[in-house]
Amino acid sequence: MTQFRLADRVAKLPPYLFAEIDRLKAEVKSQGMDIISLGIGDPDLPTPDFIIEALHASAKKPENHQYPSYTGLLSFRKAVADWYKTRFGVDLDPDNEVVSLIGSKEGIAHFPLAFIDPGDLALIASPNYPVYPVATGFAGGESLILPLTPDNDFLPDLDAVSDAQWDRAKVIFVNYPNNPTGATAPREFYEKLVKKARDTGTILVSDAAYTEMYFDAAKKPLSIFEIPGAKDVAIEFHSLSKTYNMTGWRIGMAVGNESLVKGLGKIKENVDSGIFQAVQEAGVAALTQGEPYAASFRAIYKERRDLAVPALRKMGLDCRTPDASFYLWCRVPAGETSAGFVSRVLKNTGVVVTPGNGFGAPGEGFFRIALTVGKQRLEEALSRIASL
Ligand SMILES: *Cc1c(COP(=O)(O)O)cnc(C)c1O
Repeated sequence: MTQFRLADRVAKLPPYLFAEIDRLKAEVKSQGMDIISLGIGDPDLPTPDFIIEALHASAKKPENHQYPSYTGLLSFRKAVADWYKTRFGVDLDPDNEVVSLIGSKEGIAHFPLAFIDPGDLALIASPNYPVYPVATGFAGGESLILPLTPDNDFLPDLDAVSDAQWDRAKVIFVNYPNNPTGATAPREFYEKLVKKARDTGTILVSDAAYTEMYFDAAKKPLSIFEIPGAKDVAIEFHSLSKTYNMTGWRIGMAVGNESLVKGLGKIKENVDSGIFQAVQEAGVAALTQGEPYAASFRAIYKERRDLAVPALRKMGLDCRTPDASFYLWCRVPAGETSAGFVSRVLKNTGVVVTPGNGFGAPGEGFFRIALTVGKQRLEEALSRIASL
């Protein structure tokens, strides 16, 4: 069979860093070892019933069986705007400042096609969600990594970027609460970021998928739009995936600066045909009635966090206590690499954790634990790691 040559943009993709883990996982499994995966950022809890019931009712309506509108149902965009108002005190115009997405990954992946030209620079706070540099590369842009480390509290050093780099930068990507580190951004950082983006004419992309996974009601994560002037320069990606255990449903949203939202919409109009309206109506139910459920999920993740962090520290592992997200970010033991440690844990215990370098070079020397198994399995995983 003819082997067709891949397009350069695909051939140039960085090697898939989890390939070795996947191989090892299959090997360990074939030996009959019980695998506990703390590897993937996908909630283990089911979607609340009332959302499923809303889907069921909406799916029966014939008008929902046709092509949806490109920008999303107005009722969904209104629910998004109302949710932003209630949660963050932010005003959004549902007609011009909200677009529905087939999950926020879809929007993040398409966004650079609307705004990045070949040779443009994207600043990427890293360790990072891999989609930012990949999508930048698909659009012909280049990425400049801004390292997030314990020394800078996992906040990019905006002053370390030269004037020439700011000049060339078309966009900066940040993600708080952060995957994979669990770090959150204080208001002062966001103020500085918005000022810098405005002063330099840089598009500010905020990936806010985890704002509802917080553990201290006194320190609720912010939307970038709580900062005055942010709408001048920013677009924020959000999602129902993590908040309401809806990763499989594929529904999210982008909000903010009208020209940015509309530019993204232009790409989408030419690529997809929107989200099944029944899913959007279920999304309206989630956004308008989901808060008590989101609160109960927070309590579950907090219990897991408070179980895991002390146990890992007792083993001598240096782990952050995250204020938000369901991730723990820990240093690998001295003298080991991320890949080496993760392989050793998997081979000897059957527990899957994620090597930090899979999220970019600044993640080397760390590993990520996703708190996405129940308490008993988590306890079992921890005791296996302790006996390593
Ligand atoms: C999970 C996640 C998303 C959300 O993905 P969806 O496509 O909305 O399911 C976005 N950004 C980050 C950093 C994530 O971890």
